[in-house]
Amino acid sequence: MYSAPAATNAPAKTRGRVLFVCGRPDPDPAIADVAAELGYELLRVRSADEAIEHAIAPGFALILAGHTGDVAAFAEVVRRLRAAFPPTPLVAIGPPLPRGPSAEPLYEAGMLAVLDEPVSPTILKAKASFYLDAYATAAELRRMADDLAEQDRRKTEFLATLAHELRNPMAPIRSGLQLMRRTTGDPAALARVHEIMDRQLDHLVHLVDDLLDVARITRGQVELKPEWIALEDVVQAAIDSSLPLIEASRHRLDLRLPAASLKLYADATRLTQVVSNLLNNAAKYTPRGGDILLAAERDGDQAVIVVSDNGIGIPSASLESVFQMFTQVPHPTQRSHGGLGIGLSLVRSLVELHGGTITAASRGVNAGSVFTVRLPLAGKDSPAPGPAARAPSAPPAGLRLLVVDDNRDAAETLSALLGAMGHTAPVAADGHQALRMIASLRPQLVFLDIGMPGMSGYEVAQAVRADPQFDGVRLVALTGWGGEADRARGRAAGFDAHLTKPATVAAIEDALARLA
Ligand code: ADP
Repeated sequence: MYSAPAATNAPAKTRGRVLFVCGRPDPDPAIADVAAELGYELLRVRSADEAIEHAIAPGFALILAGHTGDVAAFAEVVRRLRAAFPPTPLVAIGPPLPRGPSAEPLYEAGMLAVLDEPVSPTILKAKASFYLDAYATAAELRRMADDLAEQDRRKTEFLATLAHELRNPMAPIRSGLQLMRRTTGDPAALARVHEIMDRQLDHLVHLVDDLLDVARITRGQVELKPEWIALEDVVQAAIDSSLPLIEASRHRLDLRLPAASLKLYADATRLTQVVSNLLNNAAKYTPRGGDILLAAERDGDQAVIVVSDNGIGIPSASLESVFQMFTQVPHPTQRSHGGLGIGLSLVRSLVELHGGTITAASRGVNAGSVFTVRLPLAGKDSPAPGPAARAPSAPPAGLRLLVVDDNRDAAETLSALLGAMGHTAPVAADGHQALRMIASLRPQLVFLDIGMPGMSGYEVAQAVRADPQFDGVRLVALTGWGGEADRARGRAAGFDAHLTKPATVAAIEDALARLA
């Protein structure tokens, strides 16, 4: 076999390979020159048999097949090359072939075009460019179709997992409700049921929050709210949130913090989400009674957070893909732990939004895993550290409030909760009723749903802000839409605060303390 020597001006990295099938000892040098000029490597073989030995990936972008003018013999060569390299365009080169019907067997066999010898470099270049471009476009489309099919497969699988994961916490909530109906007289049993329902609801909220975060990050809508924070506070908040899972599996948690406090300019909520996600994974993917280490330290101008475990480990081939959306690594002995396969993808996006990096390491299956997060201690736009923000004071008691929501159940439960906190909080079921009640009751603060039929919460807020007699009324949006664009729209409409559903009691109390 002979490979044409690369022309001296051939680019170091070729765009692909061109196969030149030619049995003659003196091939036209123009062919090698044109291939090099177009950026392709030319592989010359002497026969169809030799060509077929090369029928392996990544394939050829163009086949130039030499012939001697024998149509029947050449049609057989074309047929064999076509069968071996189905997507590659084939151009014949040789003495002029008969035109018209007698050349048809060649086209039927799969030949696309003919170049007569002596070969004109200009014509060869024009024809070769056309077919090479067509091949490149087709190859790109095939790659995209394969990617889309893979994404579609993972999304379908994800939807099935999602349905399953959402159903899991619903079952105990439903049985909890039935139990509550039957155990009205037993406060201890009721407290236990409440605790279970609370935990399961938290799990549901967490799943939905993750899903919304993924959607926002994919659309580039997540904005950090950085401030000067102490890393140990983030670590502590993450431990608080993950401890139930760690304790449920009887793992030991070893915490190592630096002697001096590490201050960094970052979004505390998002970093807590990062560390707690890593801790939850360590707890989930480590057999009962395992060891989890959470260490934070300073390395130059970076903060390093390490979460390691002695659990099921990660095969080296999956160390990078665990950060991809919807990825779950199958494990030979471990049954599925549920989860959606989006946690680590979220974690990586949040770390990168902070200008940091995250890596996974593992010595293999059952050899534990180590996740290392590196964060810049100060972002480039970080202001000088200032005094810590003042903690909000306790909310005043006996407030006059109004709850507006077209979902009756949501409105009535919030109203009852506010009532239990010592406030009066009647309910309005739509925007028009809300405006009438604001005028007659003069509430100090209104919890206002945004998406309502007829008149939206934005329109109600605008109407309230347009009337100077309501200047003192505080408006809190209570909605399922919590993205930065939604908050900005709320501010523009005149809202004083924005809470996402389902709001926690702490968030409601905080809004009352700050605003009422
Ligand atoms: P989920 O945990 O919901 O499946 P993640 O994105 O958090 O999704 O994790 C993706 C996959 O990475 C997991 O399904 C698991 O296979 C693997 N993984 C993550 N953390 C660990 C760990 N500490 N040990 C072993 N495998 C892990």
